[in-house]
Amino acid sequence: MPGEAIMNNEDAVRNEWGQICSQLKTEVGEKAFNSWLRPLSVGSFSNGIMNICVPTRFMRNWVITNYSDRIHKIWEKKNPAIKSINFVVQATEDPTIGVHNSSCRSFMKKIPNSPAPQNIYQSGADNLPFAEYTAFNESGQSLSVPLNPQYTFDNFVVGKTNEFAYAAARKVAESDNIPFNPLFLYSGVGLGKTHLMHAIAWHIKQRSPEKNIVYLSAEKFMYKFVRALRYKDTAAFKEQFRSVDVLMVDDVQFMGGKDSTQEEFFYTFNSLIEEGRQIIISADKSPSDLEGIESRLRSRLGCGLVADIHPTDFDLRIGILREKAKQFNCELPDKVAEFLAQKITTNIRELEGALRRLAAHAQLLPGKEISLETTQDVLKDMLRSYDRRTTIDEIQKKVAEYFNISVKEMQSSRRARTVARPRQIAMYLAKQLTSRSLPEIGRKFDRDHTTVMHAVRKVEELIVEDKSLAENIDSLRRAHEE
Ligand code: ADP
Ligand code: MG
Repeated sequence: MPGEAIMNNEDAVRNEWGQICSQLKTEVGEKAFNSWLRPLSVGSFSNGIMNICVPTRFMRNWVITNYSDRIHKIWEKKNPAIKSINFVVQATEDPTIGVHNSSCRSFMKKIPNSPAPQNIYQSGADNLPFAEYTAFNESGQSLSVPLNPQYTFDNFVVGKTNEFAYAAARKVAESDNIPFNPLFLYSGVGLGKTHLMHAIAWHIKQRSPEKNIVYLSAEKFMYKFVRALRYKDTAAFKEQFRSVDVLMVDDVQFMGGKDSTQEEFFYTFNSLIEEGRQIIISADKSPSDLEGIESRLRSRLGCGLVADIHPTDFDLRIGILREKAKQFNCELPDKVAEFLAQKITTNIRELEGALRRLAAHAQLLPGKEISLETTQDVLKDMLRSYDRRTTIDEIQKKVAEYFNISVKEMQSSRRARTVARPRQIAMYLAKQLTSRSLPEIGRKFDRDHTTVMHAVRKVEELIVEDKSLAENIDSLRRAHEE
């Protein structure tokens, strides 16, 4: 039956949408995903045209400007039958509507100007599971969102890569006057910006409970501002900022391209600075590199202190794992900590997520305490996805470069020490950094698995005996993690 075929098709695309969502979430980060993409749902699909439902017109515009190309690209790759994607405004009663919701079918029922359901962003624009979302309050009282009680200075592990940002944050939190304004924190995702901002807020709250501290994401700022515009209530919106002592706006990169909100932010920002209030901003890039942000705002953002957090190094990852293990109340053997710190190098959120899974597993299944074996097992999927990022080809290339030989030589049958040693090191690193099996590794070097096994043992021995070789290998490993 043709109808049935379409249904099956629809089911398939709905399934694909789930996968696309997972990918988008990794690409854009949880915050942006929750705010802009989670509320979308799959509608009908026919003649190559996919309808995606969006709860409000404002969101529709935003999604089209910022995400539609990407969505289309990913989807087309997955399913060439998708020729184009339509974003259709479809108000929904259910604020928790998620990616798997399929209730959006009737496209005739467009409600173009309907206000957004009160708490459509509830699903965590702030990524705080416990957070009671303080919805925009028509009388204009509430601006800030609750702070995560775990995000304190005490819980922040300091290392080489974040010590400057940490010191700057502490300075702002502890000073009676304003040491620099604004403090601008930037880094890649999951490296501790939000944590530091909350820590500043907690600290100031403790010292001076009377201070009005407002922490919100740039998205929330925009959302509230756009709502105020819709309700013709911008005066109340502005009024809310007048009594603010400390304003923190997280992830301002999301303000890119939204002219009217930028303008508003610029004025709010200037007037607060002029009145001597502290401002703290975070973004994923330095002020000068922010895209879609007006140049005068960019230069204003950079006129205080700019502090960046670098990607983590191995030691910091170990430190953080220890700290989190304490928090999660779990026993973490050194070997497992080292293994995780070696494998999961992208960001702290992922590292933490891995440990959380291990801890939950250990707690739920008594007798399954954390070990290298349970780790490999529990985190199988996650580790596999890391392996995809670390390929043996890359390892060969890096090691060959380092020892000044060619990859061809590395794969050749030559046995001269100058070639054989780097080859063994590359095999060892392939074993350490990927979860490829010995035969799989062997094939990449045109060898069998016993040769790889021998190489791994040999390098393990050499590392103990030869300090400079150990250092070489360590720097290769680090180079690989960058
Ligand atoms: P960002 O805002 O830069 O994306 P977050 O502040 O949300 O990153 O940090 C992601 C996770 O990593 C949080 O759970 C946070 O507590 C944790 N984290 C980041 N840096 C540290 C650190 N130095 N010590 C302890 N935990 C950290
Ligand atoms: Mg953040």
